[in-house]
Amino acid sequence: MPLKIHLHQIPLTGGKWEGEEDPHIFGLSEVGALPIGPLSYCLEGGISNDGFFAVGSLSLKVQLQCVACLCFFEYKIQVDHVAIQTELEGREIVDLTPLVREDILLALPLYPRCDSTSELSCPATFPTEAKAVESERDTSQTAWEALKNLNLKKNS
Ligand SMILES: [Zn+2]
Repeated sequence: MPLKIHLHQIPLTGGKWEGEEDPHIFGLSEVGALPIGPLSYCLEGGISNDGFFAVGSLSLKVQLQCVACLCFFEYKIQVDHVAIQTELEGREIVDLTPLVREDILLALPLYPRCDSTSELSCPATFPTEAKAVESERDTSQTAWEALKNLNLKKNS
């Protein structure tokens, strides 16, 4: 398991870990994200004081469901500033899985929309705020019309 790091194998100058990992170990389907393809990661780190630290990047393609039209769409999770830090507490192996999972979860949109990735436009149409303002203007316009008509009648 590449995401489990044996501490005694880390050179004093630090280590570098990159590769791909089966994303199913992260249990992302629980949060409605179905992984498409492996997780790619590139991490560099080492031991400082009593902790293990690593920085780097990771990316993963997932399938998400749009909150508006309920269609499924592909979304690329790209985290360029992964920062992992954990206490060693006498351990010899650091399992990065839960730490990386946290970073992936943070990168997921809270309300995924199929049009969030540019070229697509969401087929679901909801009354937008702009439309609400417009209809308000319409009523005020008719109110002015009514007032004008009233004045015309008064003057004639
Ligand atoms: Zn949509």
